[in-house]
Amino acid sequence: MSRTFIGMPAFPRAARTATADAQLRHNLRAATRTIRGKRAAAVGELDDWAALRAAGKAVKERTLRHLDRYLEQLEASVTAAGGHVHWAADAAEANRIVADLVQATGHSEVVKVKSMATQEIGLNDALREAGITAYETDLAELIVQLGDDLPSHILVPAIHRDRAEIREIFLRRMAGWGVPAPEGLTDDPRALAEAARVHLREKFLNARVAVSGANFAVAETGTLVVLESEGNGRMCLTLPETLISVVGIEKTIPTWADLDVFLRTLPRSATGERMNPYTSTWTGVTPGDGPQEFHLVLLDNGRTDVLADEVGRQALRCIRCSACLNICPVYERTGGHAYGSVYPGPIGAILTPQLRGTGGEPEASLPYASSLCGACYEVCPVAIDIPEVLVHLRERVASAGGAGHRVEKAAMAAAGWVLGDGRRLGAAQRAAAAARSLVPRRLPGPAGAWTDTRDLPAVPGESFRRWWRDRRVGGADTEAES
Ligand code: SF4
Repeated sequence: MSRTFIGMPAFPRAARTATADAQLRHNLRAATRTIRGKRAAAVGELDDWAALRAAGKAVKERTLRHLDRYLEQLEASVTAAGGHVHWAADAAEANRIVADLVQATGHSEVVKVKSMATQEIGLNDALREAGITAYETDLAELIVQLGDDLPSHILVPAIHRDRAEIREIFLRRMAGWGVPAPEGLTDDPRALAEAARVHLREKFLNARVAVSGANFAVAETGTLVVLESEGNGRMCLTLPETLISVVGIEKTIPTWADLDVFLRTLPRSATGERMNPYTSTWTGVTPGDGPQEFHLVLLDNGRTDVLADEVGRQALRCIRCSACLNICPVYERTGGHAYGSVYPGPIGAILTPQLRGTGGEPEASLPYASSLCGACYEVCPVAIDIPEVLVHLRERVASAGGAGHRVEKAAMAAAGWVLGDGRRLGAAQRAAAAARSLVPRRLPGPAGAWTDTRDLPAVPGESFRRWWRDRRVGGADTEAES
């Protein structure tokens, strides 16, 4: 069973470990650069990309503004189509609802479609505690589950693994979960995919209950939509008798027509494909076709708090394409585990502290896990201004205090006092120049964190103003320090 992120260290410590792992950095660099190139080419083909981006942003903004109304409409539509809607305020409630629903079927195994929402609430662990085994069917999620690992990317959870590592995991762990890996398995991608296919087929054919997420939930029709590349999700969505979908409330969109823009922007942003290989939609139940019982669990788990924040709420527009991860220089070097959450990279750095609050050390460190270069904003298909939210969250963390922030505030107040008066500045410069041989390479106390990763600039022998005065020919000497 895959592990959870609970108890992970704050980002700086986790990142230090990750960046020391040369194999990890090699795997990440190769994978993110490939996807990045494909995305750039796929987006570059479209003349109207800017208009599509603006349209996606507008649909999501409008939905969030009236989310209460659209959620009620969604509930009515799903119910009218023969489904059941459950409201979950937090992870514990969602897990309990799903476990109860599975137990009511009398079965103790479920197949799962890849789903960030179920990862977020730790559903697999909760089901295990209730005596239910959940089998991940997405290839990358399967690798993570068999490897007793943590996902490290929104779209490709096993992006930190290379082919040799995946082969080793399959050979070592598949037999314990069902059909074993074939003897003589190589690390050829086709051989690995075939081993996974045979292993998963047994699960698909035996499972009577499936758990999914959804990329979109259409309020006007009650239709749920999943986009995927492998077809495994479709097997889960069509073969079992009972389907339980756990969906964050922000996945709602008003109308079927609104899907149009996302079906064009999501595949190009995510995998660099013009259209998605498998797009599955389901609306309630249809007698004699597909699951005969359908439950929709609508998950809040902190989302209404995010919605209440005028700057931060734009994070709820996210369509989980992961383009911001693939472009981010910080993510490329640290990988996803360092973020201590199922949401890594730039979107994780703004979503996790909002969903979980900035009270904990890992969450408070995430708004600083960025160089603020703005590349994430450039590629985001729904134009989330991630740097703006990062700065907003830094402000929140700083104003909450903490030793480092108190020292920083005091230093800024002192700097303001000195810089606000020419004579004080001159005196400070003379004092600094006189003591330049005593300036240490590393600052003492909490300020030392700054010089851990930077060189302290050398203090010049004379100030610029003195230098200017000495070289100026015939000019009036107006320097305050004279
Ligand atoms: S923030 Fe934007 S770029 Fe990042 S995953 Fe979400 S939609 Fe994609």
